[in-house]
Amino acid sequence: MEWIKCKHGNFGECEECDQEEFYEAWWYLNEHPSFNFKIPFLTGDNFEFNYFNDSLVIDVVKVDPGTLEIEDDETKNTKVQIWLECGEPFEEKDGSIQTYHNTDYDTGGDTFEEAVINLAEIVKNKTKEEKK
Ligand SMILES: [Zn+2]
Repeated sequence: MEWIKCKHGNFGECEECDQEEFYEAWWYLNEHPSFNFKIPFLTGDNFEFNYFNDSLVIDVVKVDPGTLEIEDDETKNTKVQIWLECGEPFEEKDGSIQTYHNTDYDTGGDTFEEAVINLAEIVKNKTKEEKK
C-alpha cells in the first residue's frame, strides 16, 4: 500500500485536514441555494439571505450503540451523539421568514464536526438527485 502525504505533510489521519473538511462542509451548507431566500424588501437587489444557520437545531443525545436509536430502556443508551435538524426557509402570511424542519436532512454523528460533514453529504446527494 502506498501512503500519500497530505499538504500538511501527514500520512493517513490528519487533524488539520479533518478541520478543513468540517469548515468546507459548514460553508457549503451556509452558501447552499436550498437554504436561500430572497428578502422581499430587498428583492430589487436580488439579494438572497441564507437561512441554514437559523434553521439548525442541535441536540445532544445518548443512544443505544447497537441501533443508534434512543431506546425506551435507558440503560441501553450509552453512546453520546450529536443530532442535527434543519430545513428550507419560507415566508409566513405575516411576511416573516420561517424555516421548515425537513426530515430528509435529519442526521447525526459522534461529534458536531462529523454531524455537519454528514449533513453536507446528504444535501449534496439530494441536490444531485434533483438535477437528474
Ligand atoms: Zn493534512
